[in-house]
Amino acid sequence: MIRSDFFHSLRFGALSLPLLNTTRRFTTTQNFPKAQHGNEELLVVIGGGAAGVYGAIRAKTVAPHLSVLVIEKGKFLSKVKISGGGRCNVTNGHYMEETVLADNYPRGYKELRGSFFSTHGPMDTMSWFSDHGVPLKTEDDGRVFPVSNSSSSIIDCLMLEAKSSGVSLQTGKVVTNVSTTNSGKFLVKIEKHTIDLVENVEANYVLVASGSNRQGHTLAMQLGHSVVDPMPSLFTFKIDDKHLAELSGITFPKVKAKLNVENVRRSIPEFTQVGPMLVTHWGLSGPVILRLSAWGARTLLVDFLPDLHIEDVKSMLLQHKDQFVKQKVLNTFPPKFGLVKRFWKYVLEQEGIDGDTLWASIPKNSLISVSSLLKQCSFRITGKGQFKDEFVTAGGVPLSEISLNTMESKIQPRLFFAGEVLNVDGITGGFNFQNAWSGGYIAGSSIGALATSCKDESV
Ligand SMILES: Cc1cc2nc3c(=O)[nH]c(=O)nc-3n(C[C@H](O)[C@H](O)[C@H](O)COP(=O)(O)OP(=O)(O)OC[C@H]3O[C@@H](n4cnc5c(N)ncnc54)[C@H](O)[C@@H]3O)c2cc1C
Repeated sequence: MIRSDFFHSLRFGALSLPLLNTTRRFTTTQNFPKAQHGNEELLVVIGGGAAGVYGAIRAKTVAPHLSVLVIEKGKFLSKVKISGGGRCNVTNGHYMEETVLADNYPRGYKELRGSFFSTHGPMDTMSWFSDHGVPLKTEDDGRVFPVSNSSSSIIDCLMLEAKSSGVSLQTGKVVTNVSTTNSGKFLVKIEKHTIDLVENVEANYVLVASGSNRQGHTLAMQLGHSVVDPMPSLFTFKIDDKHLAELSGITFPKVKAKLNVENVRRSIPEFTQVGPMLVTHWGLSGPVILRLSAWGARTLLVDFLPDLHIEDVKSMLLQHKDQFVKQKVLNTFPPKFGLVKRFWKYVLEQEGIDGDTLWASIPKNSLISVSSLLKQCSFRITGKGQFKDEFVTAGGVPLSEISLNTMESKIQPRLFFAGEVLNVDGITGGFNFQNAWSGGYIAGSSIGALATSCKDESV
């Protein structure tokens, strides 16, 4: 039912807009914001996560005359809030060279070698936040956090910058449909379920930054794109070893873990990771495992003593044998190994050594085998368990359908994508947010440049 007498203004953030018509469901079709601002163009950003908000700010910075509207169905930057255990691992400070940086993306490592990170890489992200009043720090493993150790610093900064630059932020609304008009524009259908409101907004540019959300994929498909089926990317490794399961809860502060990947001949540095590892009741977890888990592999080799050479391990064991002849092998072992007794028991079991044997009776060969096991313990990966703390999705719009130097769709002009909606995923360490910042920045720059050239032409 059309209520044609219903002409009044609806507030879109800072913009006051005329409603042209409504239905019982308050459907409105708006020449937004053209009706109000003559030739001004509109960008609608779908999704107020890292990629969407960063992209919106960038577009508005490049083209201040462009109207920018971000539609977020939940809370703005909600993943930033919970990320990095509430600290937000903004980016990674150890990979400045683009090709090496790209190697940290199991999906995207080939495509991201080009202009993507050279246009806006980790250094640019760090400068951006520092310049906008958020000091950052790089931890030993390369992860970059706000000095405040609080993701709120990042959120406050982005929200303040978006608002002060004039980006219109709308929350509690969902983009449910996007189609193209004969004039080459987009008709964006926005719904607010709580008050049964439907708005149809005509936009010149659309940036899809909807994360791993299925709805975003549907919108991409409506506009002619294909979607690689989403699946979780970061896992723990399932290892069927009941003796290992008995070690559940033990943390190794520093191991060197290496994946043996079938059919990959060249040595890929990302297949080797150094850092903490945790034994769980069903396998292995911890930062080292998560960083490796995004790559498919069957065998994991763990060096439990990465700071010691194998020859040093052997000689320490032999010296220990000479020193502790009358002690049981289970009760004492070289303290420099820094191992817990439960794990030492596991090592002895693996080598078939009875823990009650005296050190004096242990053959030299057994000690050589123990050294090898400590330096290169092989685990067969039998499956993967989902890691819920940093859930990243692989899958989404294929990169082959996007021009990565602009983030514009190769299928639909003036349609842009950024962030996790694309078939890109990084290992842990700040790489996933970096994908969102880089993509958002490039898309925002391209849209801003297009809007500026359109404005110049119309003058
Ligand atoms: C617990 C956790 C911790 C993490 N920690 C880190 C970390 O420390 N470092 C790191 O690099 N990565 C981390 N990640 C991954 C990182 O959060 C994501 O890669 C990143 O948020 C992707 O950004 P995005 O903007 O593409 O998508 P999102 O952050 O998912 O934002 C997309 C937004 O779009 C909205 N949306 C979707 N569809 C619609 C629609 N139709 N209409 C309106 N709105 C819509 C969603 O509500 C959402 O807010 C973590 C992830 C999780 C879950």
